Amino acid sequence: MAIKSLFIANRGEIAVRINKAAKALGIRTVQAASEADLDSLACRLADEVVVIGPPQAAKSYLDVEAIVQAIKASGADAVHPGYGFLSENPRFVSAVEAAGITFVGPDAATIAKMGDKAMARAEAVAAGVPVVPGSDGRIGDLADARRQAARIGYPVMIKASAGGGGRGIRIVEDEASLEKLVPQAMAEARASFGDDGLYMERYIQHARHIEVQVLGDGTDVVHLFERECSLQRKRQKVWEEAPAAMLPRSVRDALGASAVLLARRVNYRNAGTLEYLYDSKTQEFFFIEMNTRIQVEHPITEAITGIDVVQAQLRIAGGERLWFGQGDITQTGHAIEVRINAENPAKMFMPSPGLVATYSPPEGSNIRFDTLLFEGYRIVPYYDSLVGKLIVWAPDRRAAIVTLQTALNSLKVEGIHTTVPLHKALARDNDVGEGAFHTAWLESWMAGGALEASRF
Ligand code: ADP
Ligand code: ADP
Ligand code: MG
Repeated sequence: MAIKSLFIANRGEIAVRINKAAKALGIRTVQAASEADLDSLACRLADEVVVIGPPQAAKSYLDVEAIVQAIKASGADAVHPGYGFLSENPRFVSAVEAAGITFVGPDAATIAKMGDKAMARAEAVAAGVPVVPGSDGRIGDLADARRQAARIGYPVMIKASAGGGGRGIRIVEDEASLEKLVPQAMAEARASFGDDGLYMERYIQHARHIEVQVLGDGTDVVHLFERECSLQRKRQKVWEEAPAAMLPRSVRDALGASAVLLARRVNYRNAGTLEYLYDSKTQEFFFIEMNTRIQVEHPITEAITGIDVVQAQLRIAGGERLWFGQGDITQTGHAIEVRINAENPAKMFMPSPGLVATYSPPEGSNIRFDTLLFEGYRIVPYYDSLVGKLIVWAPDRRAAIVTLQTALNSLKVEGIHTTVPLHKALARDNDVGEGAFHTAWLESWMAGGALEASRF
């Protein structure tokens, strides 16, 4: 049944985005807010605001009981979880399902299976989708980790099964470091995700991060082509593109087919993303994880396909079958998204909350700015530092970079530090212009002093 009233269990720019998508479909919105978020843009846009708790996320946006209670009390018939927070938490989704509320995403069982990295890996193996050589399921004790690492070959990467946002990951060069890093990664995983399960993969050097957006209705699955997110800092995406800059046609087709195969196998419903590492030397790709939720970088896919992914999520959750087939989906041009954080690039990206004294959005055609900013808003220190996503589109990649430069020059944010200077420097860089990068490129570029050398 079509959604009439939507509870938004998230904050920041994605809450703004969801409010707008819901309104475009004639859906009433109820915005969850911690006490720190009452004057946010999302609260201004929503039809109703419900206070769910104090500023600390653990007592508000991450509090399953408080949120389920708030949804019930609001009378909303559905909940959109956004990304992060409870979006991939099977316990939350089960509680929502049990209350007879529609969850905008896959069901709890699918999230438990595909949102857990070690389990999703096993699913990929069973589907015949290539994965990075690694451990069979979770690693047990240190002795088991030692055995598995010796078999896989160093360097290896240990990852939290429940991980996300680049946390709980360690690169292990040799056996001596393994003994130190396994307990560390376990502690971090337990603290961040409430689950200390780890698994292990061979560390692929100079890989590119390529991911495929899918949409499913529980029976049918289509893909909306790929995105490349190789420019990363601390394993978090900084700059994303669609389509991938340097991917041969045959690899693109194989990736799309592999993503659809895997999503079909679990009768995937709603929007999801299958992430891969791609080795451009051997042209091999390896599945690494599935995000069973909307992703930060979904707008670049929207820019090249013309499909509104958040509206699609709401329509699918409302019971609609997919209203197009694979053959109806086309892509045009090239899109780039850069993540603008309230951080100071000159001071090791230290968070920079505070008053937004001056703000004017970027101007020009084919420019989109998804943001939580407005002039006079005070950025709070409790959450993620993402304050805006600048998305540009042009007929080809070179033109998109020029449009990005124009957009970055016309965006005005004063009172806080932002990562705009980083993006200006990247947009001028030769390697970036050539698309000659991999997942470790940005960090070595910065370590080499390129950011200081650029005039900002
Ligand atoms: P995307 O996969 O959409 O690019 P990111 O990895 O940047 O997203 O994550 C988006 C936000 O969600 C970040 O704030 C990140 O810290 C958070 N996040 C992602 N996955 C998880 C998770 N499993 N648990 C907690 N937070 C997460
Ligand atoms: P998260 O859930 O935190 O997003 P991912 O498994 O998606 O974790 O990995 C995050 C990033 O870490 C990837 O985008 C990539 O840059 C790097 N990475 C992950 N697995 C490997 C690997 N096996 N070898 C090399 N780099 C990897
Ligand atoms: Mg990932």
